[in-house]
Amino acid sequence: MNGNRMVRVIAGAATLLMAAGFPAAGQAPPAGAPGIPGNPPQIAARPAIAKEAQSWLADLIKINTANPPGNEQIAALYIAGILQKDGIKAEILDLTPGRSAVVARLRSSVVAQPSRALLLVAHMDTVPVEKSRWSVDPFGAAIKDGYMYGRGAIDDKGMLAANLAAFISLKRSMARLNRDVIFLATADEESGGDASIRMLIAKHWDKFAAGYALNEGGNVFLKNGKVQYVGVQASEKVAANIVVIARGTSGHASQPTKDNPVVHLAAAVAKIGNYSAPVHFTAIVRRYFEGLAPLEDDEIGKWIRSMDTADRGEHAQHVVSEASPLWNAMLRDTIAPTILTAGVANNVIPAEARANLNVRLLPGDSIDGVMNELNKLVNDPQVRLEVQPNAGLAAPPSSLESDFYGVITKVISQEFGEAPALPFQSTWLTDSAQLRLHNVQAYGLVPFPLTQDDLKRMHGDDERIPLSAFDKGVDVLLKIVTEFAVTH
Ligand SMILES: [Zn+2]
Repeated sequence: MNGNRMVRVIAGAATLLMAAGFPAAGQAPPAGAPGIPGNPPQIAARPAIAKEAQSWLADLIKINTANPPGNEQIAALYIAGILQKDGIKAEILDLTPGRSAVVARLRSSVVAQPSRALLLVAHMDTVPVEKSRWSVDPFGAAIKDGYMYGRGAIDDKGMLAANLAAFISLKRSMARLNRDVIFLATADEESGGDASIRMLIAKHWDKFAAGYALNEGGNVFLKNGKVQYVGVQASEKVAANIVVIARGTSGHASQPTKDNPVVHLAAAVAKIGNYSAPVHFTAIVRRYFEGLAPLEDDEIGKWIRSMDTADRGEHAQHVVSEASPLWNAMLRDTIAPTILTAGVANNVIPAEARANLNVRLLPGDSIDGVMNELNKLVNDPQVRLEVQPNAGLAAPPSSLESDFYGVITKVISQEFGEAPALPFQSTWLTDSAQLRLHNVQAYGLVPFPLTQDDLKRMHGDDERIPLSAFDKGVDVLLKIVTEFAVTH
């Protein structure tokens, strides 16, 4: 894609967004850009790819990849078929029966240079659904009031379709690439098991080795109808599980004893539930809050700025943590009791009761530290805590000084008016941790402007994506990829 054409594409996109009444663009076409009235073919070209991408998203939602069992192979074959139509050879990488990834590459030169390559990655599996709680078929891709509904509409089939759109656009425009661009759709992200990116890297790393990656993980945060900021994920917390085991004497429920393990477990869980780990600023979280303070109202902005001060720091940390569960979890290790198990019959005191604690550690913090604190807190000889195997590994953060991070923040500032990009440490997990462990500068960006209400539906009921936000995200993603990988 040559420079001139790029300007036209931007101008066309801006017009469409304004026509759609989208508040985020807020920008006139660049001065000196080709006049819109004189350039209808390019204007028409914009919705074409966005519209196609919407149809891919609908098709992907209709392919049920709820994990377990996932069955991502069907989605992988569908994607390979879409790529094939544009003359792009895709390779299916089988992992376990019925579960595969799919990879494709646009080459910049005969000799591959993995350290320069850009990887566009998204996962095909989704979390399961509680169908009876949905107002529409979760696998129907229904369109209602400007939204597309369906499991995965945001997480992560929206980004998957947007990646596909950017990748195919590069191919169609015969862009002169300055680095290889690799498309990868992964499996088993939601449970990180035998078909996940960990196994994919172990078996097929050479197929998609890259120096840079764009993945899910960040967000375009809307507040009062405007984009407040764009969180670009450069790091993520680390998950672990601890099981709490209370033991006692089983017996007849008609004659209760003091060592009933259900009572001891409940007391332990109550103490743990009220515990708050100390605040610990990572470099990325510090940068995040520095950028956030001026965007918040004066009151909360003042508390954010005071968090790191000697005199008011502790109180400020408390106020900020209380204001938002996200901020609370960005500042400290968190421990959430998630499963309770006890009892065999209504009239039997069991010999054992168990709870699972889902722990999210700040990168750099150790599970041993959390165990020490919890053991001191529970302080009950009848209760034992055990760390479960398969805890996550802390990955080094992606650099905030890389060329790619620079491009992402530049395009965001052009696309979302005054809303800045802020480095973001997600409390949730993504495939990027595994990539960062392999020296990839991976950044997370779900590029669709979404409200808190829409974000909350992501692993919940009636997941949906506003089609205007989807189109905007497709456009932003294409611009980022073009700016980074195309020689102008
Ligand atoms: Zn996801």
